[in-house]
Amino acid sequence: MSPSTLVKNCILLPMEKDVHHPGDYYYSGELGIRDGMITVVGPVGAGADQQWDEVIDARGMVVMPGLINCHTHGAMTLLRGYADDLPLMQWLEQKIWPLESRLENEDVYWGSMLCMLEMIQSGTTTFADMYFAMDKVAEAVEQSGLRALLARGLIGVQPNGQAALAEGVALVRDWHGAAEGRITCMLGPHAPYTCPPEYLKQVCAKAEKLGVGLHIHVAETEGEVQRAVSQWGKTPVAHLADLGVFDLPVLAAHCVHVTAEDIQILRQHGVAVAHNPESNMKLASGVAPVPKMLEAGVVVGLGTDGAASNNNLDMLQEMRTAALLHKVSSGNPTVLASYQALAMATNQGARALGLQHRVGTLAPGMAADVIFVNMDQPHLWPLHDVPAHLVYAAQAGDVDTVIVNGRILMQGRQVKTLDVERIRWEVRRRAARLTATSLDKEHLV
Ligand SMILES: [Zn+2]
Repeated sequence: MSPSTLVKNCILLPMEKDVHHPGDYYYSGELGIRDGMITVVGPVGAGADQQWDEVIDARGMVVMPGLINCHTHGAMTLLRGYADDLPLMQWLEQKIWPLESRLENEDVYWGSMLCMLEMIQSGTTTFADMYFAMDKVAEAVEQSGLRALLARGLIGVQPNGQAALAEGVALVRDWHGAAEGRITCMLGPHAPYTCPPEYLKQVCAKAEKLGVGLHIHVAETEGEVQRAVSQWGKTPVAHLADLGVFDLPVLAAHCVHVTAEDIQILRQHGVAVAHNPESNMKLASGVAPVPKMLEAGVVVGLGTDGAASNNNLDMLQEMRTAALLHKVSSGNPTVLASYQALAMATNQGARALGLQHRVGTLAPGMAADVIFVNMDQPHLWPLHDVPAHLVYAAQAGDVDTVIVNGRILMQGRQVKTLDVERIRWEVRRRAARLTATSLDKEHLV
């Protein structure tokens, strides 16, 4: 992208609010980008008094903030379709964890590359990732051009708990603020049921010293809550609060089984929730009380979780699922209206990741993390309402252009930063090595 670019004649959706209000978008708008930053947001003519190196006519496109995936395990794209239709603990213990123990660092790298390719092609510009071999993930982020919040997953009950924590600390030291500031880091204690209290305290002490927050799975299943109550006499949320975990900035994935008291604790401590409706539905974990959390003032972002429990990383689909799920489960079609679902995938996601001063909204001074969605297609005709179309009718393939930090990662559906054929070859070859069931095996020998 030229040092200064004016995008004009677009439907401009800045996503400045978390709920719908009149005048949310400019039907004919202009967005100015200078040196990777947004400088102009307004109606046609807003940038007319300035010189621009390049002018892009984006007629028929919605121009909006890139989508933010608040919870995933990128390298798990390698396990997409490997284990389905199982309950969470059986899925983890019998299928996922044994296979993950055979993953090599280069597998994580190429799995992450596939994840980022899919995210770019579906309009995601920022994602929060928790896994291992995170140096490899960080390298992949650097190359893809995406923005990411990375955490080394820590399982305190495993023999490598201390070694993993040392790696988590090293990740923060080596990568926090790297890749032109696109990479930020957290520590990633996996969950209260895999991290005993003493271990969690140790992780918190390190995080405090490093000045970073935590990314953790919380109250994903009913069984987890029951175990917590019998072990500690309280819910996972109350347990974490009492341990002091929530005194740090916390990104809590799932929060499916939370009580009214838990929701108050989350709000009081400013804990942000990453809601993963498709993963929760697929593993039959339950329905997170998102409307109640939003009503209470808890920040809720959206995530896909890993591709092994979703099975894709498509945030447009995730918005649609979230909106539909909460309508049917509450019996109220007015909950999670389209604009609010969009906010969860943009500005609220940015808040959940602590990146609200950089991304999630199109406004002067923000980083130019922008997507163009092509609305001039039969399944999006006619155009009555922009947020409704994006949430209920748009598809990943409608995302035309993806820009992060002012750099074009995809234009006209052509990905500029990644080698699609190489990723295809590496991923199929590696999946065939790792599993006995890969249908790619015979194509590759
Ligand atoms: Zn997860």
